[in-house]
Amino acid sequence: MEEASKQPGKKPVEPVRMNLDSKFRFSCHKGLECFGECCGKITISLTPYDVLRIKNKLGITSAEFLSLYTRIVDLKSTKLPFFLLNMTEDGKCPFVGEDGCNIYADRPLICRYYPIGLGATESSEAESGDFYYQIKDSFCKGFEEDKEWTVRQWRESQEIDRYDFINKDWFEIVLNRKLLAGGVEPDEKSQRLYMLGSFDTDSFRNFVFESRFLDLYDVDEVTIQMIREDEVELLKFAHKWLKGVLFGEYIYPRRET
Ligand code: SF4
Ligand code: SF4
Repeated sequence: MEEASKQPGKKPVEPVRMNLDSKFRFSCHKGLECFGECCGKITISLTPYDVLRIKNKLGITSAEFLSLYTRIVDLKSTKLPFFLLNMTEDGKCPFVGEDGCNIYADRPLICRYYPIGLGATESSEAESGDFYYQIKDSFCKGFEEDKEWTVRQWRESQEIDRYDFINKDWFEIVLNRKLLAGGVEPDEKSQRLYMLGSFDTDSFRNFVFESRFLDLYDVDEVTIQMIREDEVELLKFAHKWLKGVLFGEYIYPRRET
């Protein structure tokens, strides 16, 4: 995934490797001379739960949000499309205003992590293969503040665990080793289904409940009820289903037709 460099034109200081108990000083608030500076000329890749939260905040459908606010790029070698948030003509995030982020409670995961970045390694030395690093942009005055955090406390304060939990199966899809190595090549149909199930939840709901989907897949009644009533459950269901579409790992088996 592309990294959030909240960074108008200057190079960040070399990142320092961290774990969950590593400490750093940081505070971001109105009154700092850099306030809002970082919310422009940046690359913000969106996760499925980001799209769900923001389209609900804006009161529009997922398809409307994707069409109005995003553009598509392919994720490196995987052929899976990703959505990036479009900046305005003057290079700013469409959601930054005089008082800061207009969608703060629903801001994307990548904005929640900042100024911490998440890395992954195959080395056994790092906890769960994940490690963290500080993105110390030279223009950011937040590091001169007294408030001290551990990475763990920062994650908790930013609701990151909830985002990771809901996006879990989707992360497993986009980080699938065979996919990244080119051993799985999604065809056009799989790519379309991936976009539908990953990001366009309102259209996916229609697809499940207004097509022959439930005749084709053996989904139990409890799950059907849950995904009918709860959009987050629908999103998680979509990601589990996509593992079947992309990798043949069907949790809900296809019925004989
Ligand atoms: S303190 Fe850092 S994160 Fe906060 S507004 Fe300034 S540049 Fe952005
Ligand atoms: S979504 Fe909010 S926090 Fe993220 S870049 Fe835009 S204005 Fe800044």
